[in-house]
Amino acid sequence: MIKTHVLGFPRIGAQRELKFALERHWRGEIDTDTLEATAARLRAAHWRLQQQAGLDFVAVGDFALYDHVASLIQLFGCEPARFGFDGSEPPLQRYFAMARGAPTHAHAEGCGCGATDPQALEMTKWFDTNYHYLVPEFDEATAFSLHAERLLAEVGEAIALPASPKVVLLGPVSFLHLGKSKVAGFDRLGLLERLLPVYEQLLLRLAARGVTCVQLDEPVLGLDLDERWQQALRSAYARLATAEPQQQLLLATYFSPLQQNLALACELPVGGLHVDAVRAPEELLDVARRLPRERVLSVGIIDGRNVWRADLDAALARLREVLELRGGRLWVAPSCSLLHVPLRLRDDAAVDGELRLWLAGAEEKLDELRVLKRALWGDEASVAAELAASRAARAARAASPRVRRVAVAERLRALPAEADRRASPFAVRQQAQRERLQLPAFPTTTIGSFPQTAEIRAARAAFKRGELDEAAYREAMQREIALAVHRQEELGLDMLVHGEAERNDMVEYFGEQLDGFAFTANGWVQSYGSRCVKPPLLYGDVARPRAMTVEWSRYAQGLTPRPMKGMLTGPITILQWSFVRDDQARADTALQIALAIRDEVADLEQAGIAAIQIDEPAIREGLPLRRAQWDAYLGWATCAFRIAASPVRDDTQIHTHMCYAEFNDILPAIAAMDADVITIETSRSDMELLRGFGSFRYPNEIGPGVYDIHSPRVPGRGEMLRLLRKAAEVIPADRLWINPDCGLKTRQWPEVTAALKEMVEAARELRAAA
Ligand code: GLN
Ligand code: ZN
Repeated sequence: MIKTHVLGFPRIGAQRELKFALERHWRGEIDTDTLEATAARLRAAHWRLQQQAGLDFVAVGDFALYDHVASLIQLFGCEPARFGFDGSEPPLQRYFAMARGAPTHAHAEGCGCGATDPQALEMTKWFDTNYHYLVPEFDEATAFSLHAERLLAEVGEAIALPASPKVVLLGPVSFLHLGKSKVAGFDRLGLLERLLPVYEQLLLRLAARGVTCVQLDEPVLGLDLDERWQQALRSAYARLATAEPQQQLLLATYFSPLQQNLALACELPVGGLHVDAVRAPEELLDVARRLPRERVLSVGIIDGRNVWRADLDAALARLREVLELRGGRLWVAPSCSLLHVPLRLRDDAAVDGELRLWLAGAEEKLDELRVLKRALWGDEASVAAELAASRAARAARAASPRVRRVAVAERLRALPAEADRRASPFAVRQQAQRERLQLPAFPTTTIGSFPQTAEIRAARAAFKRGELDEAAYREAMQREIALAVHRQEELGLDMLVHGEAERNDMVEYFGEQLDGFAFTANGWVQSYGSRCVKPPLLYGDVARPRAMTVEWSRYAQGLTPRPMKGMLTGPITILQWSFVRDDQARADTALQIALAIRDEVADLEQAGIAAIQIDEPAIREGLPLRRAQWDAYLGWATCAFRIAASPVRDDTQIHTHMCYAEFNDILPAIAAMDADVITIETSRSDMELLRGFGSFRYPNEIGPGVYDIHSPRVPGRGEMLRLLRKAAEVIPADRLWINPDCGLKTRQWPEVTAALKEMVEAARELRAAA
């Protein structure tokens, strides 16, 4: 018997209903019941879609009002003690307090109570996706208890539909692994013995409620696990297997090959195993052979991480091979939860008719499952039309002149070997740049953006609606640029920026001007909580029809004698924050983007711009989940950066910027990027991040961020001086720059000017003391 299912489904709604309901609720405009009603409507709608596609189960438990890991923290009663909950608060209030931070009481203006409100749980990336989960906190005192009311209510909703629920939960070992130990040295794995009884109780409660299948996600099986974590998986599942014999447990892995955990995954005594056959196609047959015959094998054959229509013929061929090996116990699914793709793409208003046919969002992927199941049941004739349409769409995509541009391939082939190298070593460049730029010691600069004010956003919206013509829009942006330049001159900054007024988003801005990219009207993907992003679709060979930033930079430089930094987004960040094509290697796509940025760099230099910043905030998040693959990735990623950065003369200064990152494990790669100056986020780590650069003897210039731009608080110069002195302990003073942590677009002008004033003063004091 062949079954189909999904590991999880998008929550936010076709019109982002969940986002808007949440935000209204947080503003106090709608009450809890209204919010819950919206959520219930969305769940029901999504289950109906799953039923219409003929899935054998609907996924329950994948829905969350903010985040599925945060929901689990409540389900297992391990809300951190630091929130001071006494249990009398409504669960939803506690939930949002963990997610968003909580005032301990309604502070009156200047109430002076001295209480610091508990900070929200830390947020971090869900494996290699752009989804962020809330990090559970564990310590010796962590206790677990079951609070299954919400989950059981959702199960009840599904049964009432009526639909057959499969409950989706993060498994116990991944839950512990994804959390963090609050006290250094505390071993959170030791909590497993306390946690397992709660899982057991939950399985019993679910069985009593009529749930016949529970999916336990253990994505840590795709990571490099040491013996202890492997052993934890063994003992956890041995125990759960004895808890509830009637219930089918499906162990799910995704995002990464199993490799050394493959035998373990096949051994664990569960009812079935789901594997990601998109990320690890090479392991599928091995798993099919090893997994005991009586178990279900769920094959994740539809790409849950990307937006392209599947090759159904190839999928069918693969699935038939598996059937041959295993007989009937085959389940078919997307590779991972569909949380990571937009809900629906094929009717998106902003995508042209040709391209739309190539795409598959969550709904379209459900339809692909429907077709696969029919065909596997031997009813291929009934889906012949769908299979033919799918085949035709794939063929059209492969043959489209919009996808392959001969000139791009030719240029890459002809690229000289030294294209990724600057003409001279850093020491020579540094000298040439010093002569040209004539900057003081400890030069001050900012990271690029200045506040995106309401006026800027209104002007852009009017321009997009066609109410403002191009000339008027350009003038409005030039006024903003002039304002930013004059403010920087008044503040006495040494290297200026134009402020990025004209940019909506650092990737979209470039994607819109490059060939090979398309944009959706409604292709939203949840990033965290109510926040969604709309990644560009990178569908074809990338080319730059014309200069993208030169006019703005030239205009800005014309307003001031001080050096103006050109401002670009790097190839890896553009790659990382887009849905990219699946018909060529990511490395090749990155190289194509790099060539387009390279041309922009050359044009900026030609226009007289003496310093050019190429932002790469996403370089670290592109790291593969497996260490063994890091070097290969870092090799092509840094090469792409250098190709973008290297067409310039010695006396043109290349900057790069990174933030939100831990750098220490990739310092050689950062050095290999060979930017003349790197600016990084360091203030929140109290310059600790910089130590690594120091002991590594990072060779080029560095601007460690001296204040945190994430808060409206204006730091004093004393704080900045303290940080700078700390920085000077590890980085030679003649290589230090002074700048904030990141761009200032989310801040207000009064805070920005006040903070930068202090920063410039700090630089002056430092120079005077030197
Ligand atoms: N230049 C960008 C800005 O200042 C950099 C943003 C980022 O690092 N994410 O906004
Ligand atoms: Zn940044």
